[in-house]
Amino acid sequence: EGIGAWVARRAERSPDAVALVDGPTGARTSYAELDERVGARAGRLASLGVGHGDRVALLGENSTGYLEWLFAAARLGAIAVPINMRLAAAEVAYVLTDSGAGVLVRSTAFAPLADAGCALLTTPPQLVDVAGTPDGAVRREPEPTADRGAEPCVIMYTSGTTGRPKGAVLTHDNMLWNAINMLSAGPGIASTDVTIAAAPLFHIGALGLSALPLIYAGGTVVVVPSFDPAGFLDLMAAERVTTQFLVPAMWAALTRVPDLDDRAFPALRFAISGGAPCPVTVIERFLELGWIFTEGFGMTELSPCALFLDAADVVTHAGSVGRPFLHVDARLVDEAGDDVAVGEVGELVLRGPTVFAGYWNRPQETAEAMRGGWFHSGDLGTRDDRGFVTLVDRKKDMIITGGENVYPVEVEQVLHRHPGVADVAVVGVGDPQWGEAVLAVVVPADPAAPPPSDEVIAFARARIAHFKAPRRVEVVEELPRNATGKLLKRVLRERFAGSAA
Ligand code: ATP
Ligand code: MG
Repeated sequence: EGIGAWVARRAERSPDAVALVDGPTGARTSYAELDERVGARAGRLASLGVGHGDRVALLGENSTGYLEWLFAAARLGAIAVPINMRLAAAEVAYVLTDSGAGVLVRSTAFAPLADAGCALLTTPPQLVDVAGTPDGAVRREPEPTADRGAEPCVIMYTSGTTGRPKGAVLTHDNMLWNAINMLSAGPGIASTDVTIAAAPLFHIGALGLSALPLIYAGGTVVVVPSFDPAGFLDLMAAERVTTQFLVPAMWAALTRVPDLDDRAFPALRFAISGGAPCPVTVIERFLELGWIFTEGFGMTELSPCALFLDAADVVTHAGSVGRPFLHVDARLVDEAGDDVAVGEVGELVLRGPTVFAGYWNRPQETAEAMRGGWFHSGDLGTRDDRGFVTLVDRKKDMIITGGENVYPVEVEQVLHRHPGVADVAVVGVGDPQWGEAVLAVVVPADPAAPPPSDEVIAFARARIAHFKAPRRVEVVEELPRNATGKLLKRVLRERFAGSAA
């Protein structure tokens, strides 16, 4: 059955348990109220003509209403299409056209962007206010259970880190198995758990790690519209958060809160980072504070949870993304599709009930990614003799310099330890002698005194092979990142391509 039924089932069994909390006001929504609100919103969508298989786009900052509309669409068998609120109007128009959304639910803050996007369309979608309280027809009945599992639940666009975002079609069963994977992982998730949905809900991270598994488990999701590090820590303490997912850029921001050491989170069972490589320096900082800090590997196409480093293994395997979740099969393969040996670099391929149904309107890209029954992630990694996977980098980011392979993430991990470096990205740039040269783009800890290039290079050479160390260092004020803080290396490659060393 579909995710729309999860709310109804929880409402029957634990009507008074808190499902959602509005972070800024502290307003609480019980499962019974959530069921009612989802029903009312489903009724509103139905009155606009939304039915089975129709697309309902969502544009706005995180809010409890956002999740209610998502469940409401699901209850009708419609498909939610979360739109990245950082897009430009033309890109919003593209997503609306690409998905064929007949209705666009948008927040007040993003009404101007929604309007600008719709103005570019010949048949714009009908607009609905995310915070509006619909009256009239209420659809209270749980959805029919027949066959909904295999149907699309959401078209979730990828982060667009390596190119134009692709719409990954995730089914209701994908979401269910993802929740089951989360519930059955080491520390598990239960109805007593509380988390904050702080990463944007229009990316799979917050939806698939924070919101949906917690609702499935009957737990509590606190929703915040934006991320302010100190305020976030206040809220974590006040709401007695038990489990927390954030992307690495957010965890890194928390390490810079001055009084982090003085804060206590007695309810917290475990923290989890995922979505991008987490600097080992950040993991170490939380381990020093006594946190159970774990890491997972996920992708939009995998709903997203695929690999998880259990708390028990963090100390021995810090920097690894662990082993597959219970219902995920993972292998590392060479170009021919054969398993690579322990310690050898291979592409991570995955199989199981959380693998997406394909890219929306992109059969060719779907066929390229799904080969021989395995989803090809485009990520490279190694595994040890116990099956622990360490990602080395994306295939697309690997640098080949003088015939040697360099994985930029490894170089970044080293440079993060340099006291003069606040942030760093390593990319390959064309080089007449070496094919590609390793370039480190550094944000200095002290803008007035950036570390000299030769000193950064020497620092790297003292710790890793010379061919991996940067040949060139550029200093910038800020690195280009997307909404979840992922490094946009394609932007850096373009910016520094060709310019002299
Ligand atoms: P696009 O596919 O549009 O280029 P994207 O791949 O960044 O964007 P997502 O699906 O949000 O879109 O992210 C998945 C990717 O994030 C993975 O393929 C991997 O490269 C990276 N990733 C996720 N978790 C981790 C992790 N724990 N460590 C390192 N990288 C990670
Ligand atoms: Mg991707």
